[in-house]
Amino acid sequence: MGYRLGIDIGATKTKLILLNPQGKIAAREQIRTESIGSVEPIATRAGQALEGILARAKLPRSRLQACGIGVAGQLDPKSGVIDDSPNLQWFGVQFKKPMEQALGLKIRMANDVNAAAWGEYWFGSKRTCPNLAAVFVGSGIGGGFVINGSLVEGASGTAAEVGHAIFRENGLRCDCGRLGCHEAYAGGVPMEKRMRKLAGQGKAPLVAKMVQGELSRINTRTIADAAKRGDPKAGRIWKDAVLSLCVLAANLVSLLNPERLVLGGGVIEGNPSLVPTIRKFVDERAVALSARKVEIIQSQLKGDAIALGAAALVEL
Ligand SMILES: [Zn+2]
Repeated sequence: MGYRLGIDIGATKTKLILLNPQGKIAAREQIRTESIGSVEPIATRAGQALEGILARAKLPRSRLQACGIGVAGQLDPKSGVIDDSPNLQWFGVQFKKPMEQALGLKIRMANDVNAAAWGEYWFGSKRTCPNLAAVFVGSGIGGGFVINGSLVEGASGTAAEVGHAIFRENGLRCDCGRLGCHEAYAGGVPMEKRMRKLAGQGKAPLVAKMVQGELSRINTRTIADAAKRGDPKAGRIWKDAVLSLCVLAANLVSLLNPERLVLGGGVIEGNPSLVPTIRKFVDERAVALSARKVEIIQSQLKGDAIALGAAALVEL
């Protein structure tokens, strides 16, 4: 087994992690993504970052056995085309070819949370949990399923888009353009947008006071705290978000019967009390035998889940 590179391309940051043959982190680097509308800038920058990593590790390129990339968006791993990545403004763009050219390597690619689910499985669960579902709640909501030890990618690579499963028919408008998605209720960015708007209109004075009028400082933690302190608008947003995540988790447990449900992302890490709340809802509302079986835990790999999972995509 040789060295492996895992890359996590997010809207603002791109992370590269080099794993040694024992599967331990040998080097890491973070660079700016700054690649709105076109793949080439980040491909070039990732190629340069890789050169730097190899030089610092004094590693000849020939010892690099595999490279995987997790990228935010809906994509087809076979064709290498990213169909829809709103945060990067990549729509129907060829990703794999320019990336392989810039890195000088063959790559495997996956949706970011599919890669994260694979990482949680490969580095944490594979001995005990062949069935795992992951839900990452950050700016948006992504999911990933591992069933019988295989990553579920679906017919076109877009399986497990749990954020765009419907929570309320004809509900809030989601950034994907459709109505009532879980992400519209519990995604960090949509929640913060709604809260900032209400606070800006003077409808949530407690929230405005909590951030000393700097509405850009409102995050999901502010919303949760304001809800606890009795602000009715924050209360409404937070209650909807919690319910959305509870319903999503209970449905996944009933649908997939996993040994493990992994919850991660900034909204979960910033509000860890969500985990026991979701646990209780799953116990009450999911299929009883599945609820008894499932372990619900916070992500073990945290911010490295996508890059580590990407480095392990070669094992798919
Ligand atoms: Zn949506």
